[in-house]
Amino acid sequence: MNDTILELYQIEKSFGDVRVLNGIDLSVPKGEFITLLGPSGCGKTTTLRIIAGLETPDRGRVFLAGKDVTDLEPNKRNVNTVFQNYALFPHMNVEANIAYSLKLKRIDKQTISKTVKEALDLVQLAGYEKRMPDELSGGQRQRVAIARAIVNEPAVLLLDEPLGALDLQLRHQMQIELKRLQKRLGVTFIYITHDQEEALNMSDRIAVMRDGKFEQIGTPAQVYDHPRTSYVARFVGSANLISGTAYNVGEGLIRLDTEDGPGLVRTRGARIMDGQAITVAVRRESVTLVTGETNDNLGLRAVVKEKNYAGGVLQIIVSLSDGRELVSSRQGIDSPLKAGDHVLVTWLPDQGVIVDLEEAG
Ligand code: ATP
Repeated sequence: MNDTILELYQIEKSFGDVRVLNGIDLSVPKGEFITLLGPSGCGKTTTLRIIAGLETPDRGRVFLAGKDVTDLEPNKRNVNTVFQNYALFPHMNVEANIAYSLKLKRIDKQTISKTVKEALDLVQLAGYEKRMPDELSGGQRQRVAIARAIVNEPAVLLLDEPLGALDLQLRHQMQIELKRLQKRLGVTFIYITHDQEEALNMSDRIAVMRDGKFEQIGTPAQVYDHPRTSYVARFVGSANLISGTAYNVGEGLIRLDTEDGPGLVRTRGARIMDGQAITVAVRRESVTLVTGETNDNLGLRAVVKEKNYAGGVLQIIVSLSDGRELVSSRQGIDSPLKAGDHVLVTWLPDQGVIVDLEEAG
């Protein structure tokens, strides 16, 4: 059985001379929550608009449920979009807002009333029918916008930074609610954010985007724990990047020689030649700072530059001999380390991930 609901094939798009999408391929199974994650301007919204039919690609095709919809009008596609500014009709109450598109379709009153009620139950706003948009909180308005989109029973719901306008606390709460709602509905969500934490919390898969291309597509654990490139490592989880020369030392390990000292990294099957220049990503929480000597003579010599201890998270910034900074972070208790202390930067071989191998050739 083919359970692919959306397929993008070699999508290209330019605005004037500027190439915005550079050959996008994406295949999304039914019911998946997939997030397009990337910095401002990388092409996320343009991709979404092409799926919605609000923009036409220069090249490539869009398939929905196996059907080529590239040349189909937006309202002929089984897709709905929820934008950051929920765009509720301010002069209509909640019920009328949700019923609006159903009325346009000339659906009978009884069915509309039943559908609206079901949608409100789903977004947990039963009893709010008569409220006006300005009598709702940001989170509630957002849920009305989603209710309004789901009454059309879209096969795919497109969400463009739907939580962007909310304050942090509400945002966290809505992340959980939205994820639950998606599972309850079983609707495919294509979600846009530039907030990596939001992407990691909510998604089944994340497509990390860079300059109009997907740099890596994978589960949150795959992109977080096994970033393929330094870009992904930095963008998702702000990993430390450490460059040096590799030497195979057996048992699937390489020694990374840097100007400040050596570290060990597992190759995970990558073929590395002795003397090859490589870059390794090490998560902030995987970095341990040691005072004195290590037993195995491993570790990069560094000097503590700054220490921040806020909200139960300790963050220590150290600098290497060339001035480059590395960050070590951990939950919990403060550390006796202080600015100016000499330390060795260490990590476990499994916690170093070799990145940019394809780029390096
Ligand atoms: P953001 O997170 O800021 O919304 P994004 O990743 O969604 O960014 P897009 O909105 O897809 O990025 O825009 C990608 C690039 O295309 C940007 O450089 C933008 O200025 C440009 N662009 C988008 N729409 C148009 C347009 N209609 N005409 C000209 N340039 C456009």
